[in-house]
This record gives sequence, structure tokens and C-alpha cells, in this order.
Amino acid sequence: MQSKILKLPETVINQIAAGEVVENPASIVKELVENSLDAGARRIDIKIERGGFEKIVIEDDGCGMSREEALLSLERHATSKIRCIEDLDTLSTMGFRGEALAAISSVSRFEMRTSNGKATRLVVEGGNVVTELCARNQGTTLEVRDLFYNVPARKKFQKSQSASQAAILRVVETLALAHPEIAFSLNDQVFAPTTLEKRLERIVGKYEHLVRGQGIFGYIASPLQAAVNRTGQYLYINKRPLFSPLISKAVKEAVGTRIAESMHPRFVLFLEMAPDRIDVNVHPQKREVRFREEGAIFRKVKEAVEKAFVPVHEFSEPLVFTTPEVESFSMNFPTFACKAEERQLDHWTMPEQPLAVFGKFLLLQKQKLVIVDLKAVSSRILFENLQTEKKAITPLLWPLEIPILPGDEEKISQLEQLGVEYRILNKTLVVDALPSFLEAASFPAFYAEWKGGKSLKETTSRFSRSQTKTFSLQQAWALWQELQKCQDRIYDPLGNPLFIELDEERLTQLLHRK
Ligand code: ADP
Ligand code: MG
Repeated sequence: MQSKILKLPETVINQIAAGEVVENPASIVKELVENSLDAGARRIDIKIERGGFEKIVIEDDGCGMSREEALLSLERHATSKIRCIEDLDTLSTMGFRGEALAAISSVSRFEMRTSNGKATRLVVEGGNVVTELCARNQGTTLEVRDLFYNVPARKKFQKSQSASQAAILRVVETLALAHPEIAFSLNDQVFAPTTLEKRLERIVGKYEHLVRGQGIFGYIASPLQAAVNRTGQYLYINKRPLFSPLISKAVKEAVGTRIAESMHPRFVLFLEMAPDRIDVNVHPQKREVRFREEGAIFRKVKEAVEKAFVPVHEFSEPLVFTTPEVESFSMNFPTFACKAEERQLDHWTMPEQPLAVFGKFLLLQKQKLVIVDLKAVSSRILFENLQTEKKAITPLLWPLEIPILPGDEEKISQLEQLGVEYRILNKTLVVDALPSFLEAASFPAFYAEWKGGKSLKETTSRFSRSQTKTFSLQQAWALWQELQKCQDRIYDPLGNPLFIELDEERLTQLLHRK
């Protein structure tokens, strides 16, 4: 009797396996560009038609292949990149599975022209391979036509052409970001060889915060540019683009309360680590990775990103301005004069020139014009002061008395952490001492906000905004100086910028000049 079980022919095996590696035109472009990178290409030109469904052509000037190699490259599990499983521990190439060309050539009409000095043309259709001599400079050209023509079921489940085109652009941009020295083109879009900074700017725009640590380099965008999803996150490990929930989470934690819980920071991060610290063989498309030491990686990334938010001031100008005398002026809120002496940390000089104060805004001149939102600065300072462990306390000559309403208990119990000394007497909150930066006169208003507000962040922010006072130039300058002692000197506790900078470009925009 004939057996019901038969071994599938190679072509069918490849077509089934192709599902894992080549889901869609974008995944084909990814595999082929990675091959070109592995072949040492300096330029990679890609042409697509109808979102890549009709045609994908990719041309490189890499090492090329001999006729024998070209034939072998189409076989499943044929690769020049590893020889044994241990080789994964020292892997420096993008590919290693030897699956892509076998898969792609089994689900399309496939043509290759390749030369390592001697040129070969190779055509595959429906499992038949024909080779002939041809003319070509060193390098490889692959042409993939009529994708999925022989797997109609797969064809049905494809995205629209325009979605596919967008996905391909994303693939090319993602790889181009990691290889700025290589020329890329996709149809009429050209990415000329350049520096990393320039390519980043071209592809993702200017990201504000530089991330730098041992084995970590990259940029993170201003929290104001946070996105509703993770598409603005580019992660590379040893230049391989990857997705890692672990790293995304580390960055998110580092950005902390600067962005809303539901938002995702935008970043481009390059991690470098010994290949044996990671396992890249966990996903057929090599999109994910497993780390040997998850905890250590998490901490390292988080730390580096946290540091990126502490501004590094580099001053090219000498000191051109002497600080206006900060007399012991008395402000309604907050008083910083006493604190300035406490902390002797003035390790960098200030070249800014205070120009004017418009009540709530201070205008400074650095290399650019800087407009400072003084209320936002107040709330940043207040927020950080309230959070520090040891607070200088000022006893009040006349204790403040505030009636306690039902439901106040919980907030009252937290006042101690803020450095407020109090007693409770007959349903009255009696405040005996306040942290030095909180004035007795403004405490009732602060307390009212604190009771109604949800968090310290919000309380300090709302309280500072609700203050009707305007600032003199002296006061504004003192605030600006006090700000320099804060951990974060860029955003208020709710993530709004403390200042804006006007450079020539921005001014031109504002005035609608070309
Ligand atoms: P992998 O990249 O995992 O080795 P592929 O199926 O993608 O598997 O490629 C098979 C082999 O074909 C590669 O190992 C490489 O030797 C060769 N190859 C593929 N593309 C190119 C190219 N553009 N230039 C030179 N050699 C290539
Ligand atoms: Mg490959």
C-alpha cells in the first residue's frame, strides 16, 4: 500500500518556511539590505514598484559572489557567515540563518546578477535555476518580481501598496541610521554618505538630549515630542536594529514624570556589547534579542538616559556681565537669598546677560536669545526643594492657624515630609515652622493647592502659576541662578519647558522671512 506520508519537495518546504522570514515586501527589503551590508557594500540602491509587490530591485557594490556561491546562496541553510553554533558568540554580521534568499526566491520571480570579478546571471522561476555569464562590475543586483505569485493565500493578506511603501521606507531609514557612511537610495530618495548627526537629523530630526555612557550612545527627544506609540524608538545593538521591551521600559523610567504615563519617548540609541552577551537567535526575522544580564543592561540604559536630562553647559564666551547685586530683597514667595549661601556650589560661571524682565518672563542673551518663564522656574525650584531630604527650617514667630476640614487628614500627615512642623489643636492646623523657601504669607495658598492638587508636581506647578506677583529684574536673576542648582534645569515638574531659545532660524520663522 502506498504510504500516506510523503516528504515534501524542497520548493514547497521553502515556500512554507518563507512565511517566517518574508512576511511582506518590507521584510524582503530588510533581508536584502542586510545582505548587502554584510557584503561590505558602500552604496546600496533600492527601487520598488507598487509597494514592492510588483518589483524590488536592490543593487550593491559589495563583494559579490562566484557562480558556485550564487547557486549555493539560494539553498536553504546555506550561509557564508557562520560555520558552527559557537560562531554566534562572535557574530559580527546581520545574517547567519541562511534562509532569506532561499525563501525569497521560492515565492517570487527572482533574478540575480553578481560579480566577484567574474559575473554571473542567475534566474529562478518555479524552482528552476538557470545561470549564464553576464557583464557587471563587482557587486550584486537582485530583482524580485511578482511577489507571492505562487502563494495566493499569502498575497490576500497583504497591506495596501501605500502602507507597504511606507514600511519599506521605514526599513531603509532604520538601517541607514546605523550606517551613515554608506550611501542609500530608495527610488528617488537619496541618502548620501554623511556623519551620524547629519543622518539622524535628516531621518528623525534634531533630538535634544545627548545620551552617552560606556557602550551607549544616542539621542532622546524632548519630552514634549513624546508619542502615543513606540514608532519613534530606534534601538540598535551592535548596529542591528531591534525591538526590546526591556530597553523601552528603561528609557521610559528614566524619562519619568517628564511625560505622561500613556506616552512614549522618542529616541535613537546605539548599544555596543560583546556578541556573547546577547542571543540574537530568538526571532526568525532577528527583530528581538535576549540579554544575558537583563538587570545590568536595564540599569545602564536608565542611568545614561537620566544623565541626558542634566544639561551640560559649555561656554565659549568669557564672562561679559557682572551679576546684579542680589540684595536681601524680600519676596512674597519664595525667598532664596538665604539658601544661596548654604550651598557653595557655583562651579560654573554665567555668561548670560539679563536684558529685561516682563513681569513673568526674563529675557537673557547667550549665543541665542533665551526667554525664561519665571513661574515655571519657581515651581521647578519649589518642587526640588520640597523633595530634598534635609531642609532648612525657619520657625515662625507667630504660628499659622488653618482650620481643618473633613478629609484633610491624609494630606496633613504628608506635610512633615515637606519639612513643615505642625500641631493639631481643636480641629485647627497650627504651623510652627516652615522650610525656609516657603514664606509664611504664602503658605496658606500653597496649602490650599496641596489639598486640592493630586501630587506634589501638580501642586507646586499650579501654586506657582496661581501667584499673581511679577518679578523685578533682580528677583528674576536670583531665580535663574537658583535654578542652576536644581537637578533638572530644563523642564518644570509637569514637563513644560522652563525657557525657549530663539536663534536666527526661529526668528526668521516667527517673522515669516525666507
Ligand atoms: P544569511 O545572510 O543568513 O547568510 P541569506 O540567504 O540571506 O543568508 O544569504 C545567503 C548567502 O548568500 C550569504 O551568506 C552570502 O554569502 C550570500 N549573499 C547574499 N546576498 C549577498 C550580496 N548582496 N552580496 C554578496 N553575497 C551575498
Ligand atoms: Mg541574509
